[in-house]
Amino acid sequence: MSGLAKLSAVAALLGSSLFVSTGAHAQGALTVYCGVQEEWCQAMSVAFQRATGVQVALTRKSAGETLAQVRAEASNPKADIWWGGPGDPQLQASEEGLLAAYESPNLKDLHPWAVSQFKQSKGRSVGIYAGALGFIYNTDELKKRKIAAPKCWSDLLKPEFKGEVQTANPNSSGTAYTSLATLVQLFGEEDGFSYMKKLHPQVNQYTKSGIAPANATARGETLVGLIFIHDGVTQKINGFPVDVATPCEGTGYEIGSMAIINGAKNLDNAKKWYDWALTPDAQAIAGQNKSYQVPSNKKSPIPAEAPRLADIRLIDYNFQKYGTADERKRLLTRWDNDIRASS
Ligand code: PLP
Repeated sequence: MSGLAKLSAVAALLGSSLFVSTGAHAQGALTVYCGVQEEWCQAMSVAFQRATGVQVALTRKSAGETLAQVRAEASNPKADIWWGGPGDPQLQASEEGLLAAYESPNLKDLHPWAVSQFKQSKGRSVGIYAGALGFIYNTDELKKRKIAAPKCWSDLLKPEFKGEVQTANPNSSGTAYTSLATLVQLFGEEDGFSYMKKLHPQVNQYTKSGIAPANATARGETLVGLIFIHDGVTQKINGFPVDVATPCEGTGYEIGSMAIINGAKNLDNAKKWYDWALTPDAQAIAGQNKSYQVPSNKKSPIPAEAPRLADIRLIDYNFQKYGTADERKRLLTRWDNDIRASS
């Protein structure tokens, strides 16, 4: 048999199944960079696999880390979906051409704040949940040391909280960037940075992830953590002696967001995940896994435990401005120089 005949014979024998299995493999996979707690990430992945048969490879990362990774992989994207975590880094990624535009048929069912993320990113990112920034504190430790629970940003500067506040590094953590941008918007840039300078000696650690301060407060390793308060509610429900508060002066919030990576290898599955993640069934997985955000679909019930945004003194957070690449880079560089380097 000639080489060509041999090839055709093999192709006749294997061709269709080879083709099908290659096709099935291409259709059967999805890589997700997930920005929320590990448990919720895993539960989403299992539910999607069950609903579609698509195999999900998932990695949990903080928002700033995901942005850095997606940027580093831009010429050969490894991930298909970036799901969860504050929306500002996704606005920056949209501007940098790292995300693909996609309009889901489910967009019409979303709250205006979720659609606003879609519009601001020119269709490259969409809101999946919202949550407010605030404090978590250890009630047992406060009682033991006879310290009043913090209610305001100004309380964190009191002598009793020296070395007792934990927050994340805004370069890696979306939570901490929200906190930085919130202080700048609430007090003005100069006073905001002056506040952060005064806060610096109170901080025992700038963690990589925004969830870490909640875990440390729950275990009594720090008195107070700066977090998205839904992460604190999770610790309370897990039985730890903690409570949460939102600052009396006002606070910022996140539009937890989702995007398809530009050049995604599994684009059809990425769209499948995207549409599914906006449904009430998929959004209910949050509450079932002790994640208490406000979901973005108007038909999704808000978990009873979720802090209600209407009850919180929220600033009119300017996502457009604080999500731009220039503003994020400028503020993070100033934070590195003025705050981090002052140790
Ligand atoms: N957990 C939840 C539920 C969140 O919404 C977020 C941020 O959006 C985080 C954790 C922390 O993310 P990061 O580590 O980027 O601060």
